[in-house]
Amino acid sequence: MERPPRATSIPKAAHDTPTGAQITTVLFDLDDTLFDHTGALSSGIRTLRTEEEGLLLTRSAEEIIERYAHLVDTIRPGSSPELRSHAEARPYRFQQLHRWLGGSGDPAIAERWSSCYRASYIAAWRPVPGAPQLVERIRRRGRIGIVTSVEASEQSEKLRVLGLDRYVDVLVTPEMGFDKPDPAMFAWALRELESTPDRSVMVGDSWKNDVLGARGAGISAVWFRRRGNRPNGFPEVRELDSFEPLTAAESTILDWSRRA
Ligand SMILES: [Mg+2]
Repeated sequence: MERPPRATSIPKAAHDTPTGAQITTVLFDLDDTLFDHTGALSSGIRTLRTEEEGLLLTRSAEEIIERYAHLVDTIRPGSSPELRSHAEARPYRFQQLHRWLGGSGDPAIAERWSSCYRASYIAAWRPVPGAPQLVERIRRRGRIGIVTSVEASEQSEKLRVLGLDRYVDVLVTPEMGFDKPDPAMFAWALRELESTPDRSVMVGDSWKNDVLGARGAGISAVWFRRRGNRPNGFPEVRELDSFEPLTAAESTILDWSRRA
């Protein structure tokens, strides 16, 4: 699980000074912003625990979910030379989980656990409540980009399954050569969308990757707070803890005119 954000300096964004510019571009993070990654992960681990039993029953489902979420955050493609893709990182995480439970880290068991988990994880793909309706409404007023740290093949499939693909104008992934919170990734998204920071907003659940990353590119951010408290001292960063009701969420994201 991502840790609560720490206070740190934050670059100015376009809407810190009144411009009166209309928002025409909204960038969204995908995992745990529009897509309920934590819900699907929990479902995958619960199914794995029920089907495989053994060592998995020596810990509660909640403990294993927390441990596995930590492994997902820390074992990424590129985090070591032999892990070049998500397909290689996934079974490696289950080797580590097997060891954490007191096992040997047997690669064959890890492969089996990984396949079982993966099938259940995919079967549990759901949007965050209100996300498809919100994206549909915003798309009527502007263009939409997804800025994500997960590879394009996985994220485009999620967008299709969630019914969001028809509303998304550009998908920006690490294959472009940079990753969040690098401001270059956000700047790339705006170039693709032929937009500018003063007409754009980023919405995401990660304070570090989404809020600070967007602000580094001069883009205002709305922090989608799924867990943790906000750091003190950043009143200019807006916050949403739900996309429902839709009108309130839409106004928080699009309406910056009251500062003008
Ligand atoms: Mg996220």
